[in-house]
Amino acid sequence: MLRPEDLERFRARLLDERMKILKDMEKLVRDSNELGKDGTMDIGDEASDLSNRQLLLSLNEADRKKLMEIDEALERIEEGTYGICEECGEPISIKRLEVKPTAIYCVECKSRLEKFEKREMAI
Ligand SMILES: [Zn+2]
Repeated sequence: MLRPEDLERFRARLLDERMKILKDMEKLVRDSNELGKDGTMDIGDEASDLSNRQLLLSLNEADRKKLMEIDEALERIEEGTYGICEECGEPISIKRLEVKPTAIYCVECKSRLEKFEKREMAI
């Protein structure tokens, strides 16, 4: 099991990454507001009236996915299930979590799932 101080460290890292992505999102929206005027980016007609949904749509797929993973990881920290493989229920090695704090599968399960089928969520 992860020690409380490890959990705290991962939580801080996740929140930090989350913040970075949100900042990128803001920048993206600002940039696209400017681009939007000549129709370069298709994110809605009224640049000044960007709803949350449009904001999310304007995010690129990778960022959106990452944000979702981070939110899920933070939820798991709250629930006390963080660092436990969703497939086999064994602890995920701390080394793996250091590399990928949003990991939900241990190394063994991940490679098995990847072989089995290219599942999008099998990270
Ligand atoms: Zn596993």
